[in-house]
Amino acid sequence: MTQNILFTFFAVSIFLATIFPIAMVVAQQDDFKAVAINEIVRDMDAKIFASADSATVKKYLPTGGASSSMSSFVLFAGDDVVLIDAGLGGSQWVKALSDLGVEPEKIKLILLTHMHSDHIGGLLNGNSRRFPNAVILSSKLEYDYWLPQNGKARNAQLEKIKTVYGNDFSKTFEFDEQVFENALIKIKALNAVGHTPGHTVFLVESLKSRLLIVGDLLHAAALQFPAPDICSSYDMEPKATVASRKRILDFAVKQNILIGGMHFPVPNIGTVKSNTQGGYEFFPVK
Ligand SMILES: [Zn+2]
Repeated sequence: MTQNILFTFFAVSIFLATIFPIAMVVAQQDDFKAVAINEIVRDMDAKIFASADSATVKKYLPTGGASSSMSSFVLFAGDDVVLIDAGLGGSQWVKALSDLGVEPEKIKLILLTHMHSDHIGGLLNGNSRRFPNAVILSSKLEYDYWLPQNGKARNAQLEKIKTVYGNDFSKTFEFDEQVFENALIKIKALNAVGHTPGHTVFLVESLKSRLLIVGDLLHAAALQFPAPDICSSYDMEPKATVASRKRILDFAVKQNILIGGMHFPVPNIGTVKSNTQGGYEFFPVK
């Protein structure tokens, strides 16, 4: 996110925060629960699709915006609580976690879909680590891109996170690796590169159900489900982004898996079907 767009998001969110609950249970299964923390709920400006075919953008976003959010997910499975991404990490995000009964000490594992600033902000509390007992895992490709070996991190925020978390931040996974398991659920990391060099989606599996958390695979649901070839200006490698988007969505369609995204409109989660025009249709949960 560029600073300008972030600023617009913030301005409107102050108003919307009074209407939408910040933390919402979006999946309640027998053996796990997923809660989305929606720090910001508002329209994503269609300007981020400036390089895409303007007729297509206009067709699906006639008002010039797409309903969206800035979210992270909290998974509850037995006694374990796993964070998927850490949002912008503003005071509302911190309060939402606390209201859920999740004190920072309780978190042992944080999984990162990628390292853009709207996904890692909550890791820091000022200049210190917010989660004293947590290990933060990211894909090796993502880590090596943002924190090159023998060099400085690509931005000051990541340099700070690296300094305060040390070895608890430098552990990485390969794609298709299982990154968490307890008696109730397993979580597997899947390759979804393109948006960033190591962008990852996470498959949560229990005996009875599955949930795919897709990070930034799409930014504007109303546009990119029906027109999956369109990329936003945030997608670092557009060709790879489109390939990953289609591969992951095809997988979700075939396996009939519930999917949730960090910029999906509230309620953040739904099912997906393919349509006859080579695109997809999204059905939010009620
Ligand atoms: Zn994002």
